[in-house]
Amino acid sequence: MDLPTKYIFVTGGVLSSLGKGLASAAIGALLESRGLTVTIQKLDPYINVDPGTMNPFQHGEVFVTDDGSETDLDLGHYERFTNAELSCDNNFTSGKIYHSVITKERRGDYLGGTVQVIPHITDEIINSIKLVAEGVDVVIVEIGGTIGDIESLPFLEAIRQCSTDLGKDNVIYIHLTYVPYIKTAGELKTKPTQHSVKELRGIGIQPDILLCRTDRYLSASIKAKIALFCNVSEDAVITAKDVKNIYEVPLVFHKEGLDNKIVELLNIWTRAPQLDKLKAFIKKSKSVKHSVTIAIVGKYVDLTESYKSLNEALYHGAIANDSKVNLIYIDSETINADSCASTLMEADGILVPGGFGKRGIEGKISAAQYARENKIPYFGICLGLHIAVIEFARNVILLQDANSEEFDQKTPYPVIYLMKEWFDAKTGTVQRRDDTSAKGATMRLGAYPCQIQKGTLAYQAYGVDQISERHRHRYELNNIYRDQLESHGAVIGGVSPDGELVEIMEIEDHPWFLGCQFHPEFKSRPMNPHPLFRDFIKAALLNSKS
Ligand code: GLN
Repeated sequence: MDLPTKYIFVTGGVLSSLGKGLASAAIGALLESRGLTVTIQKLDPYINVDPGTMNPFQHGEVFVTDDGSETDLDLGHYERFTNAELSCDNNFTSGKIYHSVITKERRGDYLGGTVQVIPHITDEIINSIKLVAEGVDVVIVEIGGTIGDIESLPFLEAIRQCSTDLGKDNVIYIHLTYVPYIKTAGELKTKPTQHSVKELRGIGIQPDILLCRTDRYLSASIKAKIALFCNVSEDAVITAKDVKNIYEVPLVFHKEGLDNKIVELLNIWTRAPQLDKLKAFIKKSKSVKHSVTIAIVGKYVDLTESYKSLNEALYHGAIANDSKVNLIYIDSETINADSCASTLMEADGILVPGGFGKRGIEGKISAAQYARENKIPYFGICLGLHIAVIEFARNVILLQDANSEEFDQKTPYPVIYLMKEWFDAKTGTVQRRDDTSAKGATMRLGAYPCQIQKGTLAYQAYGVDQISERHRHRYELNNIYRDQLESHGAVIGGVSPDGELVEIMEIEDHPWFLGCQFHPEFKSRPMNPHPLFRDFIKAALLNSKS
C-alpha cells in the first residue's frame, strides 16, 4: 500500500485511570487485525527523563523494551496487544524533550534565537512523533495526563499543529471521556464529556471520535446528545463499556464500529478485521476448568499496577493451562520463618518478583526457604533469583550471613555482588560501575542472549538452547560461589554466551524451583504465553490443593 503514514492521537478527559493506554493498545490491535502495520507511542508530561528512577508505588511498573529503555507501563499494553516492536522512541517525556532542546541550545544550534515552548519545544515533540513513523501504516500517539493539566499543554499544542504539518487527511483525534451513571437520577450523565470536549476545543483540537467510558451501553439518544454538543457524528460516539477481561476491549470497540469509523476518517482501504483468534482466547478464558493460587511475595503489594506485566504473564500462563489464577499479594515485611507456613498455606506456587532495596528482604528469604524445603513451586524473578541464591547459600551451603552486596556491603559471603567491570556484548564495550555511579539508566538493561543448559527446567520450558530476555538490574551472581552452589545441588540453567553471567539457577530434587536474572514477564502475550510462566503454573497446578 502506498499511502502516507496516518496518525491517531489519543487524549483523555474528565479524570485519570479511564484506560487510555488500554484503549490505544486495543485500537492498535484492531487496526492490525485489518492487516495494517502500527506502532504506538506514549507522550508523558512529567519532567523525569524516563520513569526508571520513579518509585513503583507512585507510577506503577517500569516497563523495559528490547533496546533497554525504561518506559511507562502503557508500553506493556501496547506490546501485549500488538506486534509493534517498541524502542526508546516510543516513549517521550517532557523531561526527555526539554533535555534534548537544552542540549541543542548549549551546543549553539539555535544561536541568536530565543528558545521558546512554541516553536522549539513543540517542534521537538513533532519530530519525536515522526521518528516512529518509518515503515508503518498507522502511528497511534497517546498523550499522558488529563485535559486541563497545565503540564500537558505543549504536547497538546504540538498535536494540534500536526493536523497542518502532516495533512488533515492523515490525522484524527480520539478523545476518551467518562459518562457516569448516576444512581439517584437513574441516568447516564453527559455533562462531564461536554466540558472535557469544550476544554479540548479551547486548545484548538476538535475530536473526531469520542470513546465514552461507562458501565453500560449508551443508547442512541444519549449518543445523539453527545454528538450534538460535542460536534462529532453520531457513529463516532463509541461506548467504551467496562469489561471483565481487558483483552475483550478490542472486541467491544469493534462491535461499536470503532475500527470502521477510523479507517473511514483516515480514508484507508483495508480487509475486514480478523478477530477469530482473539475471540477464541476470550471464549477459552471464560470456560477454564482449573484454578490455581499463586502467592506473590513482594514489596509493592499495595499497588498492583507495580506488577502489571507480572500479573498479565501469570494470567496468560494460567489460561494456557486451562486454569484461572488467584493472586495473593504478601507484603514480605510481614512474614518470617515462623509465619510462612500459615501465611503461605493457600499458595500452590510462590513467586518473588523483581525489586530494589533492603526492606522486606528477610521475609522473601524465608518464603524461598519455605518453598524449597516444602517442595512448593518457586519462581524467582531478578531479585527473586538473588533471594533464592542467598537462601541456598545460607541454609544449604551453610555460609552464615551470606547476602547480596545490595543489602549488606560487609557480608562475609557476597553471593550476589556488584560486578565492577563487565563486558557488555550488546554495546561491545567494557562497562564499569561502583556505588557512586549515577542511578539513571546505569543498570544492565534490555535484551541479552542466554544459553540454556539441556536437561534443565528452563530447557524443558523453552525447548531451545538460545534465548533472549530483558534485564533491569545492577547486581549479579558472584562466580566465585558457582562451584559451591553446584556441588550442593543447585543447577546453573542458563548463562550468557561467554559463560560469565549466570542467568538462571534451579535446584535439584524439587518439582519446580527456578530463579532467573531477567524479567520474562515483559515478553508474555495472551495468545503466546511465556514458557516459564506456563510451566510454573503447570507445576503449581500439580501441587494444587484444590
Ligand atoms: N535490586 C536488584 C539489582 O539491582 C534486582 C533488580 C530487579 O529485581 N529488577 O540487581
